[in-house]
Amino acid sequence: MDLPITQEQLDRWHNGQGLIQEVFPHLSKEQREFLMTGATQEEWDNEFGEEDEDVAVPCVDGTENHNWVRNDEDEDDCYCDRCGAREY
Ligand SMILES: [Zn+2]
Repeated sequence: MDLPITQEQLDRWHNGQGLIQEVFPHLSKEQREFLMTGATQEEWDNEFGEEDEDVAVPCVDGTENHNWVRNDEDEDDCYCDRCGAREY
């Protein structure tokens, strides 16, 4: 989902400098719901990732649509169960 929000707004919200409806008054209820519950880390990375550091590795089908699986023993560790790419 593409959200019409800025990194600055996100930082304010993450830092507790306002309720979600105050920081993002222009978003729909669904969009706020997505922010609160729906965004996965991969989606955040796609939206706001450090593009100069993260070089996208294509999956076996040539796209970036890896099938990330979380390592149960280390929740910061993700890997793709199709090509084995890792994401930290
Ligand atoms: Zn993959």
